Amino acid sequence: MVHEADVLIAGGGPVGLTLAMDLVQRGVRVVLVEQREAGEPPSVKCNHVAARSMELFRRLGLASELRAAGLPDDFPHDIAFRTTFTGRELTRIVLPSPAGRRRGEPGADTDWPTPEPPHRINQIYLEPILFNAARQLDGLTILNRVALETVTQTDDGVSATARDLTSGAELRLAGAYLVGCDGGRSTVRHQISARLVGDAVVQRVQSSYIRAPRLLALQGGTPAWGNISLNPRRSGTVYAIDGRETWLLHNYLRDNEPDFDSVDRDWAIREILGVGPDFTYEVISREDWYGRRLVADRFRDRRVFICGDAAHLWVPYAGYGMNAGLADAENLAWLLAARVAGWGAPAILDAYERERLPITEQVSHFAMNHAHAMAKQRRAVPQEIEDDAPAGEAARAELGRATWELNVQQYAAAGLNFGYYYDDSPLIEPDGEAHPPYTMGSFAPSTVPGCRTPHVWLADGRSLYDAHGDDYALLRLDPTLDVAPLLTAAASRGLPLKLIDITSVEAGPAYRTSLLISRPDRHVAWRGDALPGDVEALVGRLRGDLTPLPPLPTGEGVS
Ligand SMILES: Cc1cc2nc3c(=O)[nH]c(=O)nc-3n(C[C@H](O)[C@H](O)[C@H](O)COP(=O)(O)OP(=O)(O)OC[C@H]3O[C@@H](n4cnc5c(N)ncnc54)[C@H](O)[C@@H]3O)c2cc1C
Repeated sequence: MVHEADVLIAGGGPVGLTLAMDLVQRGVRVVLVEQREAGEPPSVKCNHVAARSMELFRRLGLASELRAAGLPDDFPHDIAFRTTFTGRELTRIVLPSPAGRRRGEPGADTDWPTPEPPHRINQIYLEPILFNAARQLDGLTILNRVALETVTQTDDGVSATARDLTSGAELRLAGAYLVGCDGGRSTVRHQISARLVGDAVVQRVQSSYIRAPRLLALQGGTPAWGNISLNPRRSGTVYAIDGRETWLLHNYLRDNEPDFDSVDRDWAIREILGVGPDFTYEVISREDWYGRRLVADRFRDRRVFICGDAAHLWVPYAGYGMNAGLADAENLAWLLAARVAGWGAPAILDAYERERLPITEQVSHFAMNHAHAMAKQRRAVPQEIEDDAPAGEAARAELGRATWELNVQQYAAAGLNFGYYYDDSPLIEPDGEAHPPYTMGSFAPSTVPGCRTPHVWLADGRSLYDAHGDDYALLRLDPTLDVAPLLTAAASRGLPLKLIDITSVEAGPAYRTSLLISRPDRHVAWRGDALPGDVEALVGRLRGDLTPLPPLPTGEGVS
């Protein structure tokens, strides 16, 4: 038997499941193979779901369920910087709990222009929610305990072989396209001969997932989701997992420590926590891992694509590994759906690599640079940091100030969420204005083509993005403008384009033209004060009906 679908997906981690759901919501039939058991949890890794990812989950109807899961509703999502977990607090980045957000409590990200602020939830709680939602969808077949092995393609489609890990039998799969969301060791990446390029080791981390029911009481005061210990003996990070007794603790190896076994795990855990030998805790699991900065030299070979960790790996600073993968999935889903539905021209698929590869390369540098800055700060913690004397007091004040300054940009990364733009896309019509610069922590809302369509609330209380929906949207700020020629041209090519009238009061200052076309992934494709003379050409641009651009340059490979 051959398992057939429009799109085949290898890997049912967060990226593969999200891509599958987005495709199915767009009417695409999907077969997904995953080597884990049905519902088998992942290891305890990602804790931060970015605002952009929550916006995507809102579109998929999952945001409320996700926001209700993970930490208790009232557990602050703050990041506390302390001498040890139980030691003195140096400073705190305030991020409200879900309940606090509903109460309107202020925090470092509460003024963001989004219907869905970030959420803190570990991957062990996130993935089962995604899996349960995905398994109920008609049009999506999930084959668990199945590992993809080989991929071949022709001009007409893709064939793959996979192994049933229970019976040992070989399975055959066939589809129009295949996407590898199969993680850092991606089989699909190897099958398309893409190579990871960059820095193979940026950091070495000894991670321990522990159960310590008495720990929270020892800390006292207001709890925090993230707890960063800074002291000369051992600095590290402790994330609250269930908000009661489970914690994920990262111990960063120093340059002069030759390997993972050269650091006594128990000693390091106790120094980071600030507890003595009589304190009891249980190690639930442990993982020693390398933080990397690697991006594949290509994200596509004709009908085969890679997404998420299969395409890029970096140190989890700014909590943007999974989130960048989810952004890949959102980008690719509507492009593939456009091809499957028939209104997208073949070259529409060129946009994926053209847009996502440079952005992920850029994020990888943000994350690596931050990892280096944090390592430098850990190395320079003053000896007197825990002293009662005035010198200790002064050292704590100074380090508190410096570490808040350094870290607020990664824990409230407005630029990473909203600032990035696509400036070399075959689907976007530039109009000559430069994109506003952004940093990891800051950005300026803008309608320059390529930027994220600025989010606003409509007068009736709806989010613009809810009104927008899954397709292209034409936003009209001047209701007297006749846009019928464009709507007719789009309809004649089957391109779904929804007209949304908004007032200039609703739109706010970022909207400076009377018309704007926002893509299905909420990036600006075109703007103007009147329709162009050649509406057919504009529709051609939106559906990728252009000569393909030349390939991107490649670099040195490490795998
Ligand atoms: C300690 C740590 C903390 C992190 N914190 C964050 C954070 O706060 N925020 C963030 O955004 N990211 C974070 N990350 C990164 C995040 O965990 C990953 O980026 C994310 O899991 C990638 O998702 P993915 O779906 O691309 O790959 P994966 O999660 O690796 O999923 C790949 C899936 O493919 C399956 N698979 C593999 N090969 C095959 C095959 N041949 N056939 C079938 N199935 C296959 C695997 O079983 C797996 O289920 C962190 C990572 C670490 C290590």
